[in-house]
Amino acid sequence: MDDTGRRCGGCVACCRHFPIEELSLLAGQKCPHVRRKGCGRYALRPASCRDWSCRWLGDPDAEGLRRPDRCGYLVDHLSGVARIVDNKTGAEMFLEVANVWLCRTEVVSSPTLWKSFIDERLFEYLYKKKLSCAIRHGVNPTALMMFNPEHTGAPEWLDKAVQMSPGFQPGVEEMTRLLGKSVVDMLEMK
Ligand code: SF4
Ligand code: SF4
Repeated sequence: MDDTGRRCGGCVACCRHFPIEELSLLAGQKCPHVRRKGCGRYALRPASCRDWSCRWLGDPDAEGLRRPDRCGYLVDHLSGVARIVDNKTGAEMFLEVANVWLCRTEVVSSPTLWKSFIDERLFEYLYKKKLSCAIRHGVNPTALMMFNPEHTGAPEWLDKAVQMSPGFQPGVEEMTRLLGKSVVDMLEMK
């Protein structure tokens, strides 16, 4: 990972909201090792924690974003893939989407309202990165898709609440094939 000069400092947003398989933590569950100044078992933290960072921390292009605990959302460094199907023709297309996790415990109402918790800085960042995004909260199976104007040709961002498809979780090679480009750079951000 390039050294962006940014540091987690007092932020433990991912430790409160991100799923950690080794610790059997679901999205939205606070890790029991969170302490006032950070991780209470930093040297022994699991691989999921070692291998992951949010984009604010690891992406040199994210200088316009704010630290996740201050802005209320975090952007996963790993993209996802959205499959878009034309209802008339059945034609498929695949979009690279950033997973954006809301870091607010009280966000439980309609996903269509979730975009009101996102600031303009995120959209500027995503526009620059040519990414659409899926705004998510905890284990809620719904995501609010926000479509980048670059992807739709529309003059502004369009949104649509969608159900996440647990049966559609392509690995790195499959993502690379579907998107027609390498996703390895994103995986190497640590
Ligand atoms: S959300 Fe980002 S800045 Fe905050 S603790 Fe996690 S990696 Fe660090
Ligand atoms: S083990 Fe440490 S780094 Fe991992 S989620 Fe828990 S507090 Fe965060």
